[in-house]
Amino acid sequence: GREAVDAVLSTLLRPDLIGRTAYGAPQLDVPVALNTNENSYPVPPQVVESIMAAMADAAPGLNRYPDREFTALRADLAAYLTRVTGTDLTPEQMWAANGSNEVLLHLLQAFGGPGRVALGFTPSYSMHPIITRTTGTRWIDGARGAGRSTGSGAGAAAAPQDFDLVVEPVVRQVRQHNPHIVFLCSPNNPTGTAIDLDLVRAVYDAVPTALIVVDEAYAEFARPGTASATTLLAGRPRLVVSRTMSKAFALAGGRVGYLAADPAVVDALRLVRMPYHLSTQTQAVARAALAHADALLGTVDAIKEQRDAIVARVAELGLVPVPSDANFVLIGGFADAPASWQALLDHGVLLRDVGIPGHLRVTAGTPEETQAMLGVLADHLAQHP
Ligand code: PMP
Repeated sequence: GREAVDAVLSTLLRPDLIGRTAYGAPQLDVPVALNTNENSYPVPPQVVESIMAAMADAAPGLNRYPDREFTALRADLAAYLTRVTGTDLTPEQMWAANGSNEVLLHLLQAFGGPGRVALGFTPSYSMHPIITRTTGTRWIDGARGAGRSTGSGAGAAAAPQDFDLVVEPVVRQVRQHNPHIVFLCSPNNPTGTAIDLDLVRAVYDAVPTALIVVDEAYAEFARPGTASATTLLAGRPRLVVSRTMSKAFALAGGRVGYLAADPAVVDALRLVRMPYHLSTQTQAVARAALAHADALLGTVDAIKEQRDAIVARVAELGLVPVPSDANFVLIGGFADAPASWQALLDHGVLLRDVGIPGHLRVTAGTPEETQAMLGVLADHLAQHP
């Protein structure tokens, strides 16, 4: 029975994992799933064709291990990131893995570990502390805002909570904890806002021995005027910028994330990755997708339009959207966010309760999904003002 399992686990399981909660975004079969910031648009037919052709080419060679160095993929990723960020990047600066989650895991395995400390600024991507702790690294929750947070929950409607990262308090926290790794997320999940590069520079200079990781999973959705931290890589060997093909590229199922960093940092990751961690099919699919970057990224403008429409419309409904540079919007002003989450789900609309009182997060999908979501939301608010 359950008790026997618990008893066994309490002696078998690593003590630091006892009582921890696993990553658990619900995977429910609902008409309008807007809870994991996927790209709602299917892979277009001409890209499907290229992927199938690449797989047909690669399949006879599946008796062999894949290229352990994923040389061609690194060159394609360098070319793509050079093109979209305007930073000259070489294949030696690139690393890739099964989703940017695994990229981050490699970083923690190489630069964290028992006796070491990683610092991030909460609320941010929920996997940063989870990945950190799986490697025995200690996690420290830094605080966002300038210390004038207005609180939240019932009664906080119309008063936007302060989720910004402000240079002075961030630098103070970084100096205080002197971590081995600092996580910055831009645009930040779940709040949506991108950070200023001045902040990245200031954090880099504040701790002369830390690895600074900028998670740019949603960078392709940023509003005009937002620059990538890749533009800071030159002369900053402790800076790492991670990205993913899961969001703008509409390739979440392909499991491809990557980073750009100093070649020495990339080389260190070879010490911890499993040999041949990127399968032949993963490399083939990723390269076929990168060859069609423009077609796949063709949905980005449409998604940004939906995002901006959601921001405008929920404000009209009396809620408090957080400014977004991503493919999602964090919405505050709910009197009882878990109750609203359930009420929307009862009508086939799945949002994300990220655990911030009074707030829910919604992914920007197709116009049809936006309309359905906003309709259900408006009805719900009319009944529960
Ligand atoms: N970073 C951030 C900020 C994310 O939101 C996500 C996915 N939700 C990831 C990384 C990981 O995505 P993937 O492993 O699919 O690349």
